[in-house]
Amino acid sequence: MKVLVINCGSSSLKYQLIDSATESVLAKGLCERITIDGRLTHTTTGKEKYTVDLDMPDHKAAVKYVLDALVDPETGAIGSLDEIDACGHRIVHGGEKFAQSVVINDEVIKAIEECNDLAPLHNPANLIGIDACRKLMPGTPNVAVFDTAFHQTMPDVAYTYGIPYKYYEEYKIRRYGFHGTSHSFVSKRLAELMGKDIRNLKLIVCHLGNGSSISAVKGGKSVDTTMGLTPLAGLPMGTRSGDIDPAIIDFIAEKENLSIKEVNNILNKESGVYGLSGVSSDFRDLTAGMEAGNDRCRLALDVFCYNVKKYIGAYAAAMGGLDGIAFTAGIGENTAYVREKSLEDLGFLGINLNNEANSVRGEEALISTDDSKVQVWVVPTNEELAIARETVALVK
Ligand code: ADP
Repeated sequence: MKVLVINCGSSSLKYQLIDSATESVLAKGLCERITIDGRLTHTTTGKEKYTVDLDMPDHKAAVKYVLDALVDPETGAIGSLDEIDACGHRIVHGGEKFAQSVVINDEVIKAIEECNDLAPLHNPANLIGIDACRKLMPGTPNVAVFDTAFHQTMPDVAYTYGIPYKYYEEYKIRRYGFHGTSHSFVSKRLAELMGKDIRNLKLIVCHLGNGSSISAVKGGKSVDTTMGLTPLAGLPMGTRSGDIDPAIIDFIAEKENLSIKEVNNILNKESGVYGLSGVSSDFRDLTAGMEAGNDRCRLALDVFCYNVKKYIGAYAAAMGGLDGIAFTAGIGENTAYVREKSLEDLGFLGINLNNEANSVRGEEALISTDDSKVQVWVVPTNEELAIARETVALVK
């Protein structure tokens, strides 16, 4: 089957056309600056990559350009849209309604709309992407794969906040967690690499990218994760604060004469390692800065790593033990310093890093010592492939 995987952000759209038989990428690309002006970058495997400026007033226009690019006789990957057997859509928030991927129908769309309040920037964009595919490819099935679904197995003690219970009952305010597709994919792969049945394992997945989250996966099920009601919680990230004392919001608002919305914006866009370092949200820049003697870059990196370490300890406690850790996503796969610093002094938990093996970048590798009780692996994530697999499983 050929599956078109679509990931609509608030002003972007990433896509991959995947052949499920070989799990190979036939074409991929990105639409950027949707609603502003519009730019498409497309690569058909084996052909030259190109970028064009195109008018993209909305996500529907972007989807249309993507489909045109896929069937272009010279630069495209397929002869006609009929060759696309199904579309898989990444949906950010499924609330408590979706614990699994689903084939999209009118009822599902209504249920996703009902989660819009929980992800006001993302879910509406996701829905426009779905609507465009349904209109431009009538008859082709669409599948929704939710970032939150994998974490729906968390027990109430892990997802309940210490605020009046009526807010959960009335507004469904609770921990949901995100990056679920990646945590699911990577935990399964980690168990395979360890050569063990996932049902008998206690695993921690560190998905460290621009957005970062850690999950505790016990017996193949997510039992806790660092992100919360929204993706602002947990670790300090590229530009997001992660967990802070909630009273800080009011404090900054008073001192700087800002609204809650404005402070929220600072916590989302001007905080994290970017806000700490004053240099960059990119870990390549931060490590270069640290190596050049910039103390704020060092502090930003070390605050990040300290928090990773703290959650590893917390989740080992939550699961009553630990068998394996996976590092994944841009930072987890590429930044040896972060892995080393995050695991420093964790020998008491049976975690011993092999410093030589830890120099690996972007490929599957065992990075713990042979006698380490807990195996530590670098496991590259592949959210698009995971979405394609889910899609195939549902429409077959
Ligand atoms: P997103 O959440 O946007 O998908 P990614 O998983 O692509 O993010 O991760 C982006 C982060 O990964 C950036 O901070 C970047 O510095 C880091 N990163 C990506 N590639 C490398 C690399 N080769 N070396 C070090 N860091 C990298």
